[in-house]
Order: sequence, then structure tokens, then C-alpha cells
Amino acid sequence: LDPCMHKTLDFLGEQRTDEGVNSYYKCRDCGATLVITPSRSAFALKDAPGRNPHASPGRQGES
Ligand SMILES: [Zn+2]
Repeated sequence: LDPCMHKTLDFLGEQRTDEGVNSYYKCRDCGATLVITPSRSAFALKDAPGRNPHASPGRQGES
């Protein structure tokens, strides 16, 4: 969905957690904040409030 490759990043800082250190970067191209977790997974935090792609779909069937 997002064509931005997040190639140009500004280092924002680090945050210590119980699991390790999260590293924060900001993309100069799209302005997204990227988080690199201690488990080496990365995800973007969009600076666009009002739209939540992770909105709960409600109760799912659970046996
Ligand atoms: Zn980007």
C-alpha cells in the first residue's frame, strides 16, 4: 500500500524496554516513524491520526 521504501532515515533515539532496546527512526520521505524492536522486527508508526488499520473487528468466534 505504501510505496515508500523508507530509505532515508533520521535516527530519533532509543527506548529501553524489558526485552531490550527499541530504536526509533523517522523517514525523511514520508515522515513515518519506524521502530526497530529488540527482536529485529521493524514496523512503521504513521503520523496520521484518525485512521486505525488495527481497529478491532469485534469479537471473533472462539471455541
Ligand atoms: Zn518512508
